[in-house]
Amino acid sequence: MSLLVIGTVAFDAIETPFGKTDKIIGGAATYIGLSASYFTKNINMVSVVGDDFPADGIANFHKHGINTDGLQVKQGEKSFFWSGKYHNDMNTRDTLATELNVLADFDPVVPAAYQDCEYLMLGNLMPKLQMRVLDQMTTRPKLIVMDTMNFWMETAWDDMMKVIARVDVLSVNDEEARQLSGEYSLVKAAQKIMAMGPKFLIIKKGEHGALLFHKDQIFFAPALPLEDVFDPTGAGDTFAGGFIGHIAATNDASFENMKRAIIYGSAMASYCVEKFGTERIIGLTAEEVEDRVKQFVDLVQFDMTLV
Ligand code: AMP
Repeated sequence: MSLLVIGTVAFDAIETPFGKTDKIIGGAATYIGLSASYFTKNINMVSVVGDDFPADGIANFHKHGINTDGLQVKQGEKSFFWSGKYHNDMNTRDTLATELNVLADFDPVVPAAYQDCEYLMLGNLMPKLQMRVLDQMTTRPKLIVMDTMNFWMETAWDDMMKVIARVDVLSVNDEEARQLSGEYSLVKAAQKIMAMGPKFLIIKKGEHGALLFHKDQIFFAPALPLEDVFDPTGAGDTFAGGFIGHIAATNDASFENMKRAIIYGSAMASYCVEKFGTERIIGLTAEEVEDRVKQFVDLVQFDMTLV
């Protein structure tokens, strides 16, 4: 099934307790697209970069089967830049810089061929731009998943709420769920957020896994305990890519299938954090992906007889 992905395509500079990078390729749509490419084929990306973005970065999208007709390249402008520094726990980070650059006056244009995509992943981006893309869809996608972050809660609350009201699944981390709902309990937060529009809510808890809420049902998936976590950047987006990629591939947006999608997303995220940036999620083999998924299944499987 066809999948449309929007979000940032960016340069990131990352600092973790294990090292520091210069500008490397990142961005929400980058991680989502690469991750989804392990599950589904017809992936279309809508985003923007400046002329500083390397041609081999775009070639890499093509190698992963991602169509970039909707990726605008603005001559004489600079790509979106984000810089962050992780604390020792690797679960929390400070944003050191967010330079919108080419994003500041970006008008996303969804090519006609993508306007009826069955699955839509609204990756992290200005809510106004997420809305622009939603408005260009000629047929409502079977499933719309949205990711956002605290930055937009602080700078574009009203626009963000309008987008949230129109999506099926919202994906945020625990801190963002609390900020969005004003509730500390994640169960209460989920109820309040689902009342804002989305029928499903994913709350990511970093190394503590992820929760999926739907009506009064809750599913929990752990994160794989890893020996080395090098760089968590993009883990949330990589998770989202695996999630929507599996759903698009199976063309099944039921709660039961979303549970499997969460496991695929978690498996991809566990690869993402093993190296800096996108390094580890480029060129994985199908066997490597399956191996990780199997480790998840083994991690949580146990026999129990209930009386
Ligand atoms: P994650 O670690 O999953 O939150 O994603 C990190 C990625 O999000 C980085 O590659 C950044 O380029 C990108 N990013 C950071 N801040 C923003 C923002 N305000 N809007 C969109 N993308 C962002």
